[in-house]
Amino acid sequence: MGSIRLENVEKWFGDVQVIKGVDLDIADGEFVIFVGPSGCGKSTLLRMISGLEETSRGRILLDDVDVTAEPPSGRKLSMVFQSYALYPHMTVGENMGFGLKTAGEGKAQIASKVDEAARVLKLDALLDRRPKALSGGQRQRVAIGRAIVREPKGFLFDEPLSNLDAALRVEMRLEIARLHQNLSTTMIYVTHDQVEAMTLADRIVVLKDGLIMQVGTPRELYENPNSLFVAQFIGSPK
Ligand code: ADP
Ligand code: MG
Repeated sequence: MGSIRLENVEKWFGDVQVIKGVDLDIADGEFVIFVGPSGCGKSTLLRMISGLEETSRGRILLDDVDVTAEPPSGRKLSMVFQSYALYPHMTVGENMGFGLKTAGEGKAQIASKVDEAARVLKLDALLDRRPKALSGGQRQRVAIGRAIVREPKGFLFDEPLSNLDAALRVEMRLEIARLHQNLSTTMIYVTHDQVEAMTLADRIVVLKDGLIMQVGTPRELYENPNSLFVAQFIGSPK
């Protein structure tokens, strides 16, 4: 279970409107990618879905339940940040379990969830290390692990690979595709990398100036972009 519905969602910062009435239905288990130019509102929309940012108008529903007024902890969605958000003074295991600890879960329960996530992400041997003793890819895995242990209904990624080098980005992209196959959990993923969008997405949402320009499968957008803007963004020859 993890369907997400946005109904006429708007965001205002003061008297500046940055999200201008977004409607979107995401099915349970779907992998949806948000693309669009810098400043178009991708992060803001994702943060509204996560609850980190208040919604000015409209509704957000999770499994048909209105969560618009719920804080992040009431939404069962996990946001994956770039790996630099790890706590440097904690071990890998402590980083992964920290959210559960603050939520009041017991030690044994936390250890078992951390072990399971570490196994999925091939971090078993690294649980006692600190982030600075890890490679960039390993750190990003820890950031993902921190989200997995919360057993969310959906994962929200905001350009998780943008500070990795090209080779590592390819490796992590495959890793995220594998994770989606294994967990079959809903994922929303913000990127400005065309290859990531075309290879990972079930559907791509193209945003511009706080509005959805087009939604479709990678193939639909490639073959039938509804505007020059979408064509250029997707890299379609049309
Ligand atoms: P993107 O992630 O697509 O690059 P953002 O969602 O970060 O875009 O930003 C969308 C717009 O909202 C930008 O014009 C940005 O300057 C503005 N914005 C984002 N956060 C804030 C904030 N906390 N206060 C005021 N304006 C903001
Ligand atoms: Mg952003």
